[in-house]
Amino acid sequence: MFEHILYETPAPKVARIVLNRPQSRNAQDTRLLYELNDAFNLAAKDDAISVIILAANGPHFSSGHDLREADPIGSLSAFETVGTWCGFGCAGAEGWMAREKELYQGLSERWRNIPKPTIAEVQGKCIAGGLMLIWPCDLIVASDDATFADNTVSMGMTGVEYFGHPWELGPRKAKEMLFTSDFLSAADAHRLGMVNQVVPSDQLEAFTLELASRIAQKPLFALKLAKEAVNAAEDAQGRISAMQTAFAIHQLSHSHNMQVHGMPIDPRGTGLVSAKT
Ligand code: ZN
Repeated sequence: MFEHILYETPAPKVARIVLNRPQSRNAQDTRLLYELNDAFNLAAKDDAISVIILAANGPHFSSGHDLREADPIGSLSAFETVGTWCGFGCAGAEGWMAREKELYQGLSERWRNIPKPTIAEVQGKCIAGGLMLIWPCDLIVASDDATFADNTVSMGMTGVEYFGHPWELGPRKAKEMLFTSDFLSAADAHRLGMVNQVVPSDQLEAFTLELASRIAQKPLFALKLAKEAVNAAEDAQGRISAMQTAFAIHQLSHSHNMQVHGMPIDPRGTGLVSAKT
């Protein structure tokens, strides 16, 4: 039923969704994102499931958005959209913003608000758009080889569309991540509170499943309410309005790049992306 992901139920009350484009380093094309959304729906609606793991096949969690997708706007028409912004075919910023509001901000925010606990299981590189899959999860377990980067400033952008940086890292490290494009190690991400646990890579899957199974034994309604309470605390601090502002600023940088370079990102960017890993 899925082409770019796998849906597994490896233990009682636990669903495990696996990104399955390892040959593309799990780059996110339109199909992968909508299949992921369908899988989250499946787990959310199944009363037998209490906890959802998001994992990835291959050496790397995700290289981010698939910039090689042939028709990123036209591809939307093959899927049921989750938002009502629409107008994807409109000229200029109107169509581009509609696409990113639906596919990036819309989906990530939707997954963040799934009531059941979600756990990201991360190995290897997790770059830019990859962060938009793990940050909406409640817990993040990383293998000791995991590294995290948002290199979009190097490409003339302001940071990924789901702008969680200040909330995940604190303002100062968020700026360093954005300004340098450098990779953050699993150990540093753990120290900063972005990652819950770091484990040896050969134990990542078993450790995450054990954690999920242990959480799944708790009363589900209490888990949902605990999640709701913590999420409400973040939102009371202005998370959602700050993210909406960041998204609008992000669209400004796309428009600037279109006017100056004729494409949504600064083409000089690939040469500026940090080699520091
Ligand atoms: Zn964008």
